[in-house]
Amino acid sequence: MTAKEKLYALEKKLTAYGHAMGILMYDGSTTAPSATAANRGETLAMLSEESYKISTSEETRAILQELSENAESLDPVTKRIVTLRLRDMEEISKIPMDEYIEYQKLINESDDVWHKAKANDDYDSFAPYIDKIVAFNKRFASYVRPDMDAYDYALDRFEKGLTRETLDKFFENLRVTLAPTVALVKSAVPVDESPLNEIMPLDVQRKFSDLLMDILLLDRSHVGIGETEHPFTTSFTRHDVRITTNYSEEHYASSMYSVIHEGGHALYEANTDVNNAYNCAGNAASMAVHESQSRFYENIIGRSIAFVKMLSPKLKALCPALEKYTDEELYRAFNASKPSLIRTEADELFYSYHIMIRYELEKRLFTGEITAKELPDEWNKMYKEYLGVIVPNNREGVLQDTHWSGGMFGYFPSYALGSAYGAQLYARMKETVDIEGDVEKGDLTNINEWLRQNIWTIGSMLEPGEIMERAFGGKFDPSYYTNYLKEKYETIYG
Ligand SMILES: [Zn+2]
Repeated sequence: MTAKEKLYALEKKLTAYGHAMGILMYDGSTTAPSATAANRGETLAMLSEESYKISTSEETRAILQELSENAESLDPVTKRIVTLRLRDMEEISKIPMDEYIEYQKLINESDDVWHKAKANDDYDSFAPYIDKIVAFNKRFASYVRPDMDAYDYALDRFEKGLTRETLDKFFENLRVTLAPTVALVKSAVPVDESPLNEIMPLDVQRKFSDLLMDILLLDRSHVGIGETEHPFTTSFTRHDVRITTNYSEEHYASSMYSVIHEGGHALYEANTDVNNAYNCAGNAASMAVHESQSRFYENIIGRSIAFVKMLSPKLKALCPALEKYTDEELYRAFNASKPSLIRTEADELFYSYHIMIRYELEKRLFTGEITAKELPDEWNKMYKEYLGVIVPNNREGVLQDTHWSGGMFGYFPSYALGSAYGAQLYARMKETVDIEGDVEKGDLTNINEWLRQNIWTIGSMLEPGEIMERAFGGKFDPSYYTNYLKEKYETIYG
């Protein structure tokens, strides 16, 4: 075998390990019986150790080295795989193996402790884990990128090239620009949310999910749907993608928008380049790019008046209790805006404020300005200051998200950035696609095709920032996002 053949065989093997681990994890969070976690954990540990060994072995290093020495003669995909793999390998090899294993154990334990802490509103049991995880992350940053600030490194892990400097400006601009709109919404008469309170039986909601997935043009022979407490999307390969949702009879709109959001993630995963299905150049580019897709479908498409008009007769056929509402009333209810406690339930306007709070607190944890002990008080203070809400307990406050228990410091900004990316993609797409017209007809073919060409099939062939700039036809400009939000909410509440 040539070095190139060996590389592709390796990529295929790693994809297979990922596939197997992904199925086990998916099974664990969907249909596995309750006492099977320990057994599954052992199998997962074995598979992840094998996969780690393959990706860091001397043999792999030799293959990558040989290919990178002849980089000019390589085709673009092979060249890219070598770059991505070497970059990963370099990072991992700078972290001592025993510390890496210790950290993995800490994360496993921490996730378990967080679940219990959240259920029992017992922050104190979880607090020591935050301090330990932050300390590990800072130490790893100093090993891998001693030249870089530790929190910048945390950001860079999820979004190559993203820094505090960029984000500080981005969030400051949002706060200043959106302040009048926020003030308007807070002082306006609240919109009537009664369409959201109609009951929809669970079996009807399952049919509704199928309908929504059909509207998004998801290929159901490759994209499945399951049920979990927290909705998510997972992709074993581009040929097998799963989304999940959470049903509640009293909150049909919650599952409805989860399905559209996760459906956006699934469209991306299932439409990456088929030629790169079994190598890392085909992977989705980053979490912010991912969120730009999910939040585009959920909000820009799914919460538009055109979408509501198109959906309304179908929705009413499934749920006759909704027949008494006009399209406008449904549209306003789906876009009801108010400051709230829980990030995942926040509307588009206030969503970024939840992210800003987490971002500010993460920065301060990393500089050591605060420790886990002060975190709940600081959290509550910021919710009062940024959103004007009183946090009644830690369960609905600092314990609400799973990210910190999993060591995902630096991840939250992806959500806000993704939302802003989505708004600029929308503006750009509108130049060549009749978005409103197509949505009102219920035909998303052109919209999907535009994203397929400009985002999905590029995979990881370029850095996330480059992909976005190419799709935008210029630099990232957050004013598309603020203008979109201002226009939308000032119309609804003005
Ligand atoms: Zn998402």
